[in-house]
Amino acid sequence: MTQALATHTVVAVIGAGAMGAGIAQVAAAAGHTVKLLDNRPGAAVQAIDGICAQFEKMAAKGKLSLEAAQAAGARLQAAEHLADLFDAGLVVEAIVENLQVKQALFKDLEAVVSEACILASNTSSISITAIGAALKNPQRLAGLHFFNPAPLMALVEVVSGLATELAVATTLFATAAAWGKTPVHAKSTPGFIVNRVARPYYAEALRVLHEGGADCATLDACCREAGGFRMGPFELMDMIGHDVNFAVTQSVWRAFFNAPRFLPSLTQQDLVDAGFLGKKSGRGFYSYQ
Ligand code: NAD
Repeated sequence: MTQALATHTVVAVIGAGAMGAGIAQVAAAAGHTVKLLDNRPGAAVQAIDGICAQFEKMAAKGKLSLEAAQAAGARLQAAEHLADLFDAGLVVEAIVENLQVKQALFKDLEAVVSEACILASNTSSISITAIGAALKNPQRLAGLHFFNPAPLMALVEVVSGLATELAVATTLFATAAAWGKTPVHAKSTPGFIVNRVARPYYAEALRVLHEGGADCATLDACCREAGGFRMGPFELMDMIGHDVNFAVTQSVWRAFFNAPRFLPSLTQQDLVDAGFLGKKSGRGFYSYQ
């Protein structure tokens, strides 16, 4: 059976936003030294402060001893440059959902990390095969797709592109399991598993809204209370962030050669254009002021 990465393996996380911070928290809690890098000045330090506050809260609730919380917090380091990630055994990328930007980052990374380092992308929808095409060694790249919020959501999709080596996927699978997650293997088809299945959840709700069938709050309440979903489609999109969710919608639509069933909504475009990105910007379908 393939072994998980040893806890002495340094894990680097690139992107200290909603997902990167959550993934860094999970890896640090599991015992790894975690280097967190973001190209927004101060973002990594701010994210680490937030994660430490989470660990302290967990300790206050008795979910973790105070010593364990402090030790987990101390395993987090803010990196300033890509070169600081030289000793990583695993790099998890959680930056903007854009193929060219991700390809450029991984290309630069290849020049920094060792040959043995596993490269993983937390992309929600971009083809792992396509990201890997820019690399000298695409065999070591796989998707490691956490769900939001990463510390709480159990599922992790381990996504193999055409070139991904089986050993890389199985090591990531074992590592996610060792981190307390419930991993599943997926091939790199558009949207992988969950984001593919979830597309109609958002798209049909947006169509009902456009047709004046019901308002957001009613639709959300129906899905939650009658449908048994934990969140309705509009509150879920607000939580994900419209920039992220719209990018995923566009990427799945394009991947299926502009199939009408995946057509992005003009409302999503408007929200992104207005900067109404959901919870993180204080306004989306709902107001969070
Ligand atoms: P976010 O906007 O909250 O964070 C992205 C971070 O990456 C920002 O802090 C930004 O400054 C940083 N960044 C951008 N380009 C960079 C670069 N070249 N180098 C270093 N840092 C860079 O986004 P997020 O919601 O955390 O999403 C990140 C990734 O995770 C995306 O690929 C997204 O599709 C995926 N994802 C998002 C969710 C979700 O619900 N938000 C869920 C699963 C996967």
